[in-house]
Amino acid sequence: MSTQTADQVDIAIVGAGAVGLAAALALSREGRRVALLGPVATPRDGRTVALLDGSWRMLAEFGVREALLEKAAPLEVMRLVDDSGSLFRQPPVEFRASEIGLEAFGWNIENADLTRILADKAGTLSGLRMVPGFVRAIEPEADGVRLSGEGFAPLKARLVVGADGRNSQVRAAAGIASRDWRYPQIALTAIFEHARDHRDISTEFHTRKGPCTIVPLPGRRSSLVWLLDPQAAEAVAALDDAAFARRVEKQVQSLLGAMTVAGPRGKVPMGGLSVERLSAGRMALIGEAAHVFPPIGAQGLNLGLRDVAALSEAVTGSADAGAPSVLADYDRARQTDVRLRTGAVDMLNRTLLADLLPADLMRGAGLLALSRIGPLRRLVMRQGLAGGAAR
Ligand SMILES: Cc1cc2nc3c(=O)[nH]c(=O)nc-3n(C[C@H](O)[C@H](O)[C@H](O)COP(=O)(O)OP(=O)(O)OC[C@H]3O[C@@H](n4cnc5c(N)ncnc54)[C@H](O)[C@@H]3O)c2cc1C
Repeated sequence: MSTQTADQVDIAIVGAGAVGLAAALALSREGRRVALLGPVATPRDGRTVALLDGSWRMLAEFGVREALLEKAAPLEVMRLVDDSGSLFRQPPVEFRASEIGLEAFGWNIENADLTRILADKAGTLSGLRMVPGFVRAIEPEADGVRLSGEGFAPLKARLVVGADGRNSQVRAAAGIASRDWRYPQIALTAIFEHARDHRDISTEFHTRKGPCTIVPLPGRRSSLVWLLDPQAAEAVAALDDAAFARRVEKQVQSLLGAMTVAGPRGKVPMGGLSVERLSAGRMALIGEAAHVFPPIGAQGLNLGLRDVAALSEAVTGSADAGAPSVLADYDRARQTDVRLRTGAVDMLNRTLLADLLPADLMRGAGLLALSRIGPLRRLVMRQGLAGGAAR
């Protein structure tokens, strides 16, 4: 253990992705000294995130609403299309935000834009210290946790928040066991310009190899998230932009007319991760450090932002941000939501992958019920947004 004296802060957040930045904005209140450690990286790879209503309102409270509005498109209608070729194939199901009294289910924005907007705001807060270096060592001590790393003097924090993503070092230092798994899928991401208006409608085609979703962006632009088996994904990814655009246009049944690729494309192997608990020994996990699942139903980042809200609530009013009672409150508040979402997305993804008659039947019957039964539709819409407006 190092003997060099460490700067003292109340809270140190490791990882300056969207979730870590949101945590920095939420926790730098009540005069707390907060440090956010890690480079702000905003690579453009075609990935967008649909910020559901509750997340949107939370971010608006940070004073970034106008900046987000410039870059985001509202999602007023969500359409599910059964493109699985199943015997029990059902007509498309449409959910309208207005059915549950909302202007939009959420707003879609490029991940890179979101991160940049949050980082710009974080840079204006006086109680927040932004340290762009990577953390290399995390050492629990009796009354805090000591952090050291690249280009900064050691820090000691009463609470360390792990927002350091899937391979979280904070999770390892806290001794929190995790389980991770892979799906035989790769997500292709891209942004397109197209001939027709999207009319603020997001469309999810459920295919046998995984969902293919097209989500509105401002103007005549949309983002694509297309899950395919690795072999098919590699073949489609190898196409040049023009051929790729034609392939996607065919896949989405020319819904938006002629399409052209606008910007870099991405390719992400799909997997999941769950943890046995969300905190241990003055360390708490948020975002993908705590849960990872495929991008179905726009849940990942939204769940991460709900972690931030719960942690901020648990810390409020406590003189010691890392006290066992604070962490117990946080753990209790998040366990159910995190487990339910991880389980539900995993199950949905596996039924799509399974070539099984009962799974087809269930999905067909489910979609049919959703299209016909008003209260069930509204329940599903509210569940999709749970933790936000429709709690
Ligand atoms: C194709 C795709 C589409 C998606 N669409 C949606 C969607 O529509 N809606 C939605 O809610 N979610 C969506 N998601 C999920 C969402 O993108 C993620 O949940 C979210 O980006 C995770 O953010 P994070 O900040 O937890 O993790 P990350 O973005 O992985 O950030 C972790 C950060 O920690 C840093 N870091 C790691 N180790 C260290 C260290 N030792 N020291 C300092 N820093 C460190 C990294 O550099 C990184 O900046 C999608 C995901 C994919 C793959």
